[in-house]
Amino acid sequence: MIRTGEQYRDGLRDGREVWIDGERVEDVTRHPAFKPIIDAKARMYDLAHEPESAPTMTYTEAGDCFSTLLRPPTEHEHWREKRRAVDLYFNDIGGVVTRVGDETVGEMWSLLDGRDVLNELDPRFGDNIDRHIARVLAEDIFHVSANTDPKGDRSKRPHDQDPDMMVHVVKETDSGIVLRGAKYETAASYADQAFLKPTVGAWTDEELSDYAVGCIVRMGARGVKHLCRAGFAGKGATDYPLASRFDEVDTLLVLDDVLIPWGDVFFYRHTKAAAFIRGTLHRYSAFPYVLRILYTADMLIGAALWNARQTGLDGLQAVREKLADLVCYREGINAHLVAAIAEAQRSPSGLLMPHQSLLYAGRVHACSNLPQMMHIARELCGGQICVTPNAAAFVRGGSAPWLEKFYSLNANWQADDRRKLLAFARDLLNSDYAGHRLTFVQFAQAPHFNHLNAVYNAFDFAGPLDFVKRAAELSDRVSDTSRG
Ligand SMILES: Cc1cc2nc3c(=O)[nH]c(=O)nc-3n(C[C@H](O)[C@H](O)[C@H](O)COP(=O)(O)OP(=O)(O)OC[C@H]3O[C@@H](n4cnc5c(N)ncnc54)[C@H](O)[C@@H]3O)c2cc1C
Repeated sequence: MIRTGEQYRDGLRDGREVWIDGERVEDVTRHPAFKPIIDAKARMYDLAHEPESAPTMTYTEAGDCFSTLLRPPTEHEHWREKRRAVDLYFNDIGGVVTRVGDETVGEMWSLLDGRDVLNELDPRFGDNIDRHIARVLAEDIFHVSANTDPKGDRSKRPHDQDPDMMVHVVKETDSGIVLRGAKYETAASYADQAFLKPTVGAWTDEELSDYAVGCIVRMGARGVKHLCRAGFAGKGATDYPLASRFDEVDTLLVLDDVLIPWGDVFFYRHTKAAAFIRGTLHRYSAFPYVLRILYTADMLIGAALWNARQTGLDGLQAVREKLADLVCYREGINAHLVAAIAEAQRSPSGLLMPHQSLLYAGRVHACSNLPQMMHIARELCGGQICVTPNAAAFVRGGSAPWLEKFYSLNANWQADDRRKLLAFARDLLNSDYAGHRLTFVQFAQAPHFNHLNAVYNAFDFAGPLDFVKRAAELSDRVSDTSRG
């Protein structure tokens, strides 16, 4: 079933407990902090129904229609279809959003790859994985990711402090397990469900733990409380064109004795299962995550080049070199994405996963260089992005004629377009929203050290070791497992 935007909105009116700025939200779909981003997600659903976009946003199998973005990939073309769908969607909404489902659903596919390992440890839950992957597709579910606990004092073990600092099982019942704790989750307050699993963290040597749990949490379930950070959306589209439409509100999701039915549990108590899942979690979902940053790079290039053209600086060699730096960054991301699909690898469950070390290296390139690239774009845009008055000053009062005069550059670039570009660049590079997006890229799919760890684990070191062994004429006593 392909849902419409309205059906998605209806699903959010499930009595969920959402709090923002100390107030309970009655209906997230109408609240000013959430409405813009919910409308952006609803647009994704509606595009799947419109005749022009439906062939890109959906595919048909055995007479039924499903979302292209939620399709478990088995062929190279499935990944290309996803890129086309994301491209269509971003061009339609005129911006970049990350957590709209396709970027988190891949975590479920990696669960499918771990099915045999999980079955070996505890065969009770293997069928739940298949059923949930089919359900996400069949019901067109908006899925988010719940990894990160508040954690507390990490010099102490979870049970040596307030045990709720990490999500854990407090009780088993005939119907399921009962969870307590909390998770940070972007978009939870306007999603359908989350895949919850343990945070990045060192396990002690215990084999079984109440903290080793992976399951589905329904966002409107009893005991689930959404404590949201303040929104950026209320500042008005004329002055903050990105923040006003695309603020993806993050939530501290409190689990206050939440019953998870046995049918929604994927693993429970086995630390080996938890460690295995953490190790493979992003093997698919890193692709859409990195793809988002490609569009951010395009916005940096576009804002900087339009600015240089407005001011007539684009003819200068030094300016062109800075633009070329931005292009190298952008094309570096693109090259990793294209290569990761061209060299895609068959996964243990028979899905086609992007080439792992190319994908993870691309994620490091995209995330770790973004601060510098934002600064190059900021520098190219000049100081005017942070000193220009808001739109009202351009049209009202004694300021209007002066701003009209000083912001009109030539016959092609009049004050209104100059102001619009500067407002866009401010929101992209300098606003609260801009700082938040940068932090999102650095952390939301795990922090930098974890990205590097993924590269280390995915890269096949045999090639370089062998090459150097031959080149340096090392003896046969050394093997690629030799240490020291
Ligand atoms: C905007 C935003 C959105 C987010 N959305 C989500 C979401 O949707 N779902 C979700 O589950 N989580 C989400 N997160 C949480 C995110 O995954 C965490 O912030 C991240 O995993 C880091 O955890 P932490 O914030 O507790 O930082 P910490 O664990 O305190 O780490 C802070 C820093 O300490 C250092 N450090 C800590 N441990 C190590 C180590 N073992 N080795 C080396 N250095 C280390 C690193 O420099 C690290 O960057 C989001 C975060 C942000 C900022």
